[in-house]
Amino acid sequence: MSWQNWSGKLKAKPNRIAFLRSEADAAALAKQADTNGQHIRVAGATHSHSPLVISNEILADPQGLTGLFAVDQATRTAWVGAGTRIYALGQPLHANGLALTNQGDIDRQAICGATATGTHGTGTRLKNLSSAVIGARIALASGELVECGPDHNAELWQASRLHLGAFGIITRLHLQLEDAYRLKEHSWTANLAETLSHFAEDAAAHRHHEFFWYPHTDEARGKSIDRTEEPAQYPLGGEGERCAWSYEVLPNHRPHKHTEMEYSIPFEHGPACMRDIQQLLTTDFPDVRWPVEYRTLAADDVWLSTAYERPTITISVHEDIARDDEGYFRACEEIFLHHKGRPHWGKVNYLSRNQLADQHKRWDDWWRVRNSVDPKGTFLNPYLKSLQP
Ligand SMILES: Cc1cc2nc3c(=O)[nH]c(=O)nc-3n(C[C@H](O)[C@H](O)[C@H](O)COP(=O)(O)OP(=O)(O)OC[C@H]3O[C@@H](n4cnc5c(N)ncnc54)[C@H](O)[C@@H]3O)c2cc1C
Repeated sequence: MSWQNWSGKLKAKPNRIAFLRSEADAAALAKQADTNGQHIRVAGATHSHSPLVISNEILADPQGLTGLFAVDQATRTAWVGAGTRIYALGQPLHANGLALTNQGDIDRQAICGATATGTHGTGTRLKNLSSAVIGARIALASGELVECGPDHNAELWQASRLHLGAFGIITRLHLQLEDAYRLKEHSWTANLAETLSHFAEDAAAHRHHEFFWYPHTDEARGKSIDRTEEPAQYPLGGEGERCAWSYEVLPNHRPHKHTEMEYSIPFEHGPACMRDIQQLLTTDFPDVRWPVEYRTLAADDVWLSTAYERPTITISVHEDIARDDEGYFRACEEIFLHHKGRPHWGKVNYLSRNQLADQHKRWDDWWRVRNSVDPKGTFLNPYLKSLQP
């Protein structure tokens, strides 16, 4: 059997792919693997560029664990199947008058794959998707199906909001949502240096604000998105022109296969870091054509979040899958580290265990809680084992 991620750059040969259809099945599979000394990884939609899903043993596919299970309109919360793709959540939530507070650039990920890595969109007042997790149901290596949240198994909940697939098979997530809302996009083009000089004010003035810089130009091509009371306009316009419900406006179509490195930089370092990346591309990498993306993220309290306790700028660099990206990405990483960056868990990085441990204040706590529910490391692959303290 063979497996590859979305970009096709990561490949594996699992000896078994288990398609999960129920929580009971997930719990029994976890226990069987643990008893037999086998290892399991769970796949989401395979959009990560980091080797999180790679397994040459058991690969569990939770696409059968989907749906909306309990909606509470009063508290604006819902339980959702862990394997539900984000695009499949939009309409059912909307039918209940609810919506996700924010979304990333695309909506192809499984909701549990997205929360596993701290997937985020843009907005100075908006946190990543892991922050929206207020509870989870997890099939542990012991075969138990446990529920966790702020009021019960609180440490397990804290640690597993950003889980890297390392705690067990997550079967359902409890999400904090908000009332359904409409958004209107506005696209713009401006000089990069000028854009950076007043980015903080502009970002504060809009619910969502971001731009792409295209190498070897002076141009930033951006989007600002705000709530609107205007009616939705169908058919939807192109990216940058839409006015509709949030789940119709926030996700984009990104079909061109690429690899990506992204770092989260303290907000105040953003412009200087971006200028350093611009300089690097101009002088050392004149052949790179893929754009650099510049977004914002509010501070949060999720243990391994890249925005843990600090307002953040995220800067993403991309390269074509047909080209060798390592020299370019390593040079960018040096700049990101100089600006106190933390790498996105679902994208490329070359950091060691010690470097990551230094960046994440709750690193030891995260591993302590993880190890307590999976002492034999049934849910670790070689990459995660290499990070284990
Ligand atoms: C085109 C593209 C656009 C992107 N845009 C953005 C963006 O705008 N913002 C951003 O932050 N990131 C973005 N990403 C990165 C992406 O959101 C993350 O890598 C995300 O984690 C991928 O989700 P997935 O469902 O594909 O999960 P996978 O990549 O398949 O898995 C991610 C992790 O989740 C675990 N997992 C999944 N389901 C379960 C489960 N039920 N139980 C236990 N563990 C589980 C896996 O084991 C793994 O550790 C993008 C990636 C691509 C390719």
